[in-house]
Amino acid sequence: MLYPDPVTPTLPPWSAVVGFILGALAGSFLNMLIWRLPRGKSLIDPAHSICPICNHRLTALDLIPIVSWLRTGGKCRHCAAPIAIRYLLVEVLVGLLFAAIWLQTMTVAIDPHWADFFIYAAAAAILVGIIYIDWELYIIPDQLNAALLLVGLIYGATHGTLLLSIKGALLGWGLIWGFVLLGRLAFGKDAMGDGDIKMMRGVGALLGPTLLLANVGLGVVLGLIGGIAGIVIESRKAVPAEAAAEAVEEPPIDATPVRLVLLGGVIYLFCIDILALFIKPVYRWIESQYPPELVVEEDDWKPSATTIPFGPYLAVGALICMLAGGPIERAMKTYWDNATGATPRVSFIRSGRTPRSLADGLAPTFKVEQSPGIVSLLPRDGQVIECL
Ligand SMILES: [Zn+2]
Repeated sequence: MLYPDPVTPTLPPWSAVVGFILGALAGSFLNMLIWRLPRGKSLIDPAHSICPICNHRLTALDLIPIVSWLRTGGKCRHCAAPIAIRYLLVEVLVGLLFAAIWLQTMTVAIDPHWADFFIYAAAAAILVGIIYIDWELYIIPDQLNAALLLVGLIYGATHGTLLLSIKGALLGWGLIWGFVLLGRLAFGKDAMGDGDIKMMRGVGALLGPTLLLANVGLGVVLGLIGGIAGIVIESRKAVPAEAAAEAVEEPPIDATPVRLVLLGGVIYLFCIDILALFIKPVYRWIESQYPPELVVEEDDWKPSATTIPFGPYLAVGALICMLAGGPIERAMKTYWDNATGATPRVSFIRSGRTPRSLADGLAPTFKVEQSPGIVSLLPRDGQVIECL
């Protein structure tokens, strides 16, 4: 049973253009983070952007999102050095994501939900950053994972669902760390990176436990599809005999010692990795436990279709769950009710915050379940609701 919210939106759908522009600007900033964060470069120094080839200081004219790249055909205006297409793609992608989030948060309810827009937009931008950095360098910067967890907890705190956020974070941490531990014990391999554990801890806080499960399921399916597609693509590439002979098998990477897998689980559970961002001695202690991870910088880097790490698939799944959370969660709960023969619930896809007074008013008759995507009412006396 679904009762759509009887709402008259005040903002017209075309206002999503504003969301797109905000997204393109955020994408421009994100491009700077994508370059500087994993390389340990300061985010504030230099405060202005420079061309890495000719060191020319870039002015406002060079930094208009999307437009500048297209106007110069992806070349530096001063030295004509090519600028990676990533700069254009990230700005367009984040623009589109912000526009979609704008449509969902600003144009569907009586009041525009500014807070929801900014929370989801921030999460989307962080996830795009994670996708790109993990794909290129096989790491996820701790700063992005910490920001993701913070955004998720802010969502919970502002929607009266902080407990769900914490449960979601614990489930995300537990599931992925469980995979890592199982893979290490059963197969002697590192199934996933520590960055994935930290990322899903933050994603769980934002999505809540139900959608977190959908997210992990989606990530696995997408990863399988991507893996198979990658093998097909690579096998079609004709490799010249000489190149094949020259290609040296990379030495196998030693699996992480079990002691460190266990220690990592504790560190991420108590968010000690986040403390380490602010407290130097904690950082040094973690560093002393783990051999330093080198960021491999390859000049001729091309994304190989078969070596995409699992993180980006999980992150794409998280974006899907964020944008289609209501319908996905409702479908899962309906399926669960049918499978267990439970009393059907009345569910509303949430468009913003449910007033506490409404939830309290319904409480004597219904058990009110709130989660980020959905509000469910379960009749307490076990009777099927005819109408509300
Ligand atoms: Zn230049």
